[in-house]
Amino acid sequence: MSPKPIMTLSRMRACGITTVRRVCPQCGCQAIVQVDGLPGGVTVAELGKGLCCISCGAPETNTQPNWREAQPRPAAH
Ligand SMILES: [Zn+2]
Repeated sequence: MSPKPIMTLSRMRACGITTVRRVCPQCGCQAIVQVDGLPGGVTVAELGKGLCCISCGAPETNTQPNWREAQPRPAAH
């Protein structure tokens, strides 16, 4: 049993990602959030707790690194 690694902004930036994708669990709307100005110790999951949905007003949204920005790695896995 390996615990899920905690994704922090600094770890995310190490992958070349500077934005997070925010998805609302209630209405499903998505937004890309620029997190350049935030400290690296903040976790991606924490971000969602402070961001309410702009469409339906849900108090919490799901956040994940915007993987599309990640540098493609040749021959990984
Ligand atoms: Zn919503």
